[in-house]
Amino acid sequence: MTKPSLLQLPPGVQLVYLAEGGANVIYRFVPSTSHLAVKKDDSKQLLSSSHDGGGVTVTTLTTIPPIFRGKLLRLRKQTASNINYKEIAANFNTKIRPLFHADELVDQTLIRLPDDLIPHCNQLLRAEERNGGSRPAKRHGSYLALNEPFGLLITDMTVFNDADPGARLAEFKPKWLLQSPSAPIGAERCRTCALREMKNREARGLGVKESRSFCPLDLVSERFDDVLRATAFVRGYDAGNDRDRDRVRLAEILFRNSTLRNLQSRQKTFREVGLLGPVEGSREDSLDMTLRDCTMFIKIPGNESEPVEIRLGDLDLKTGAGGKAQYWRDLERQLIDGGWYCTSSSDSSQKQSECALRSSRDEFNGNGNGVYST
Ligand SMILES: [Zn+2]
Repeated sequence: MTKPSLLQLPPGVQLVYLAEGGANVIYRFVPSTSHLAVKKDDSKQLLSSSHDGGGVTVTTLTTIPPIFRGKLLRLRKQTASNINYKEIAANFNTKIRPLFHADELVDQTLIRLPDDLIPHCNQLLRAEERNGGSRPAKRHGSYLALNEPFGLLITDMTVFNDADPGARLAEFKPKWLLQSPSAPIGAERCRTCALREMKNREARGLGVKESRSFCPLDLVSERFDDVLRATAFVRGYDAGNDRDRDRVRLAEILFRNSTLRNLQSRQKTFREVGLLGPVEGSREDSLDMTLRDCTMFIKIPGNESEPVEIRLGDLDLKTGAGGKAQYWRDLERQLIDGGWYCTSSSDSSQKQSECALRSSRDEFNGNGNGVYST
């Protein structure tokens, strides 16, 4: 168990809505002696691809203790899974923290909230909806859990371009950095590429836009060109060609990167996935699947001589509950039985596979000069 947190959010602290996902809302602390107007444009580099939204303005004079600097506040929404923050923080401390260096993680620390904070924040969320504010329409109607006494202080990985005009944030999910242990021998696609192709087939059938992304194996390749190829799919880096300086710089950061290597090594240790994963009906934790769905945040300063900050987030422990264990197994069975690990299908669109396991991919795709940027 985690030791009880002594941290307490002082009453009267003012927060600015920054972003939200399905299960959490992220707030920024308003700095002291500041009449801060955080606009959506200032906070567009958000914490996770699963978060969306923009900012609202709050102006108050409040002193923020130093311990909150460089941190954001994450508050829990009412959801079906309803796993409370005490449990999330305990899992993080006992299961995730030991696997990584402290500076490799988007840290999260439990903090007790003032009693009136959640109702107040919910009022503001409702007001945002009424006023046509920046809260995304698809998030309307969901609010913070009134029975959650804690928040989580998390590392702020957003980028302030006012302070550092050239700074950038790259974020992406590295996904499966190793092949699935139950993939067929001789597979020509890794698990991530096989799943993407299967979903793209469904998308084509529905007339929905297909998704294009990198092959995770390229991220951990010993060839620099493979890593550079992968960067063409990172949001914000997908416009230029492979000589674009920002892309090359990102590839240089990722090439043989120790955090990526560490993540790959942990995936190698925790490999109960695919048909080796939790059995149907299991409600057990799956650290193994958690490690395959985290997000990598890379804060890149404008000045190339300044240090780059790289952290992994979205590491709330997944569980097999709610039918997920069966879903994961069924998915793997579908990928195997449907031949998605192979590329022998007569469907010509499948020849566009980006997977590093496909030895002849360059024959179809060229050498990465912007071909993958859609
Ligand atoms: Zn692949």
